[in-house]
Amino acid sequence: MERDYPLERVRNFGIVAHVDAGKTTTSERVLFYTGSQHKIGEVHEGDTTTDWMEQEKERGITITAAAITCFWAPSYLGEEARKKKEGKYRFNVIDTPGHIDFTVEVKRSLRVLDGAVVVFDGVAGVEPQSETNWRYAEEAHVPRICFINKLDRTGASFERSYKTILDRLSKKAVRLQIPIGEEDNHEGVIDLLKMKAYYFEGNMGMNVIEKEIPENLLAQATTFRAELVERIVENDEHLMNAYLEGKEIALEVLKETLRKAVIDNKIFPVMAGSALKNKGVQLVLDAVVDYLPSPLDIPPVTGMDPNTGEEVTRHASDSEPFAALAFKLQADPFVGQLTFFRVYSGTIESGSYIYNSTTGNKERLGRIVRLQADQREEVKKVFAGEIAAAVGLKDAKTSHTFCDEENPIALDQIVFPEPVISLRIEPKTKADQEKMGMALKRLSDEDPTFRIQSDADTGETVIKGMGELHLEIIVDRMKREFGVEANVGKPQVSYKETIQGEAEVDNKYVKQTGGKGQYGHVRIKIKPLPQYDPEEKVPKNAHREEGFEFVDNIKGGVIPQEFIPAVEKGIKEAMERGILAGYKMVDISAELNFGSYHDVDSSEIAYKIAASQAFQEAAKKARPVILEPIMKVEVVVPEKFMGDITGNLSSKRGQIEAMEDRNDLKVVRAMVPLSEMFGYVTNLRSMTEGRGSSTMEFDHYAVVPQNVATTIIEQRTGAKAA
Ligand code: GDP
Repeated sequence: MERDYPLERVRNFGIVAHVDAGKTTTSERVLFYTGSQHKIGEVHEGDTTTDWMEQEKERGITITAAAITCFWAPSYLGEEARKKKEGKYRFNVIDTPGHIDFTVEVKRSLRVLDGAVVVFDGVAGVEPQSETNWRYAEEAHVPRICFINKLDRTGASFERSYKTILDRLSKKAVRLQIPIGEEDNHEGVIDLLKMKAYYFEGNMGMNVIEKEIPENLLAQATTFRAELVERIVENDEHLMNAYLEGKEIALEVLKETLRKAVIDNKIFPVMAGSALKNKGVQLVLDAVVDYLPSPLDIPPVTGMDPNTGEEVTRHASDSEPFAALAFKLQADPFVGQLTFFRVYSGTIESGSYIYNSTTGNKERLGRIVRLQADQREEVKKVFAGEIAAAVGLKDAKTSHTFCDEENPIALDQIVFPEPVISLRIEPKTKADQEKMGMALKRLSDEDPTFRIQSDADTGETVIKGMGELHLEIIVDRMKREFGVEANVGKPQVSYKETIQGEAEVDNKYVKQTGGKGQYGHVRIKIKPLPQYDPEEKVPKNAHREEGFEFVDNIKGGVIPQEFIPAVEKGIKEAMERGILAGYKMVDISAELNFGSYHDVDSSEIAYKIAASQAFQEAAKKARPVILEPIMKVEVVVPEKFMGDITGNLSSKRGQIEAMEDRNDLKVVRAMVPLSEMFGYVTNLRSMTEGRGSSTMEFDHYAVVPQNVATTIIEQRTGAKAA
C-alpha cells in the first residue's frame, strides 16, 4: 500500500492562543475553508455560517479533537489547479488547549507538531498565556507564524499588538502583512511580499480577491516591505549582496528564503485579519503551506535504545524501523477510546501487533482512524511523519513509545509539571462511589497533570491538579460524562521543601539484639541543586520536578557495592516525607562520601535506615525551607479601580511586575502565591462592580517567607496531632 500524500505535502501544525484570542473561531474557519476546498462546488449558495456550524455540531464534530485531518490547496493556485490532488496538502491540525490551567498541555502538543500558528487578540496583543506558550515553543524550537486576529474589534490595533510581540516575545517577528483598515473599517489585508491587497467575498468570505494596494496605504506598505525584504535577505549572503547592489529579487526566491528562515526559527512572520469577519484565514493557511515545515524539514527524532542505553535517531522515512509517540488519549462518542499517535519513522498497519517500549507489552492494533471534519476515516496503514488515532488500545498512555520490537527505541518522555493544588473528594452515594474510581482513572489517563491519591491517614480520595479551575473542570466532567456526584473539600496548596545550605553527617545504625545484628554506616553530604538562573529570568527548573541527584563517592569498597542502592533508597524515602512540615523535598544533591561495614550484621535495611537518618539530620542543618507555587496573574480593570487592585495584590504578597494601558483599561501583571489567590475571581468581581477580569497560571516554586512558613508548619503538625 502506497502513501497517498508525499511527505513534502504534509503539515503537522497547531493553533496556539491565549484563551479568548479566537482559537476556536479560527479553527472553525479552517475546517470550513478546507472542507469546502475538499469538495469544492458542493457548498450551496445561501448556506450561512450558523447553518454550517449547527450541522457540524449535529454530526458530533468537535474541534476539540486532539488532531483533525484536512486538505488545503493554496488559494493562489487558481481554480483548476486547486481541484487537482497534486495541488493539495494534507494538514494534521493538532489541538492545543485554550485554557489557562492547561498550558502544560501545550507542551505536550508541541512535541508532536512541526509548526504553529499563534493567534493574538488584536486589542490585547500579547497576553500572559501567549508568553508561556511562546516560552514552551521556544524551548521546543517550533517554527511559528503569528496571526493578529480580531482586527475588526473596537480598540483593535495591528501596530500596537505587533509591538507587544516585539517587546515581549521576540525581536525576530516581522510584518508579512498589514491590515486594510481596522475596527469597523477592517476590509482586508495587504501581503507585503507580493505587494497586493486581498479581500474576502462570498459566503463566509470564501472567495479570495486580489487587488492593487489602496493609494492611502501604498507608502506605508512600501516602507514595511523594505524592512521585511531586508530581514529575509540577511539570511543569505548571496541575496544580501544582490540586494545591496539594488537588484530586484524574485518573489519565489524571497519566499523560498523566508521559508528556510522560518523553519530555522530565525523569522516569525506576522499576519493580520479577523476570523469572525472571515478575513485573512485562507492566507494563513497558504502561509502554513509556504512557510511551516513538512516532517522532512525538521531534525530527526532522538531516543534511547532501552537495551543498551545508547542514543538512537530516527528519520522521517518509511524504510526506517517503526517509531511513534502516543500523545493524547481521548474518548470519542462514535468509536470509543482513541489513542492519538505520531509516527516518526517506519510504518504501521491496522491488524498488526504494536509493541509499547514504555510498558514492554504488545497489543493488537485493531482499527486506525483519522478524524476529519465530517467523518472518521478508516486508515489501513500509517506512514512516517503522519498522525492518526488507534481505537481501543488498553495499555497505552500519553507519552508512551510504540516501536519495532526488533529495533526498540524509547522516545524522550514528555515531562509534565507536578500538580500544585489538591482537594479531597467524596462520593455522594454508594452508587457514586463505585463509579467514581473508574471515572477518575479515565480522566487521569487522559490528563497527565491530573493525579489521584488516597490519603494514607484517612483513606479519603485526594485529587491534584494545576489550579482551582483545572480541578473544577475535572469535577464537572465527572458529573457530566460519568454521572458521578461528589462533595469536594477546600483546595489545598501543594507545598514542597528544599534546603538552602550544605551539611555533612556521619551516621551509624547499629543494633545488637542477640542473633544477627544490624550494621549500617554512612557519611552523607547534601547540597542544593542549582536552580534559578537570574540571566534567563525563568527558573531553570520552574517546576522543581527533576530535583534529585545521588553521587557515589565510595572508594576502596568501604561500603560494598551491593548496599549502595539501599543508601540511595533511604535518602529518597526520607525526601518523600520532608522534615519541616512533611512535604516532599526536591532539588537536593546527596553525596555518599564514606562509611564502613560489618561482615555479618550489614544488611540493605540497615543501610537504608542509616542513610535515612543521616539525611534527615543533615537536612535540618542545611537551612531547610518550604516552597510554594507562585502564579502569574494578569488583571484587567477600569482605571478607577487600579489603586484598590494593586493594593489588594500587594497585601497578598504579590509582586507587581508591570502596569500598562490597554485602550481605556489598565492591565496589572503580577506574581502572587497560589495560597493567596483562592476565590480571587469572585473577589475581583465584587471589588470592581463586575468590570474586572483576570487570568492566572502556575509559573514557578519559590521559598515561603519565615512567618508564613511558621503558620504552615503549625497547621500541618497541629492537624496531625489533633
Ligand atoms: P478561544 O477561547 O481562543 O477559542 O476564542 P474563541 O474563538 O472562542 O473566541 C472568543 C470570543 O471572541 C468569541 O466571542 C468570538 O466570537 C470572538 N472572536 C473570535 N474571533 C474574533 C474576531 O476576529 N473578531 C471579533 N470581533 N471577535 C472574535
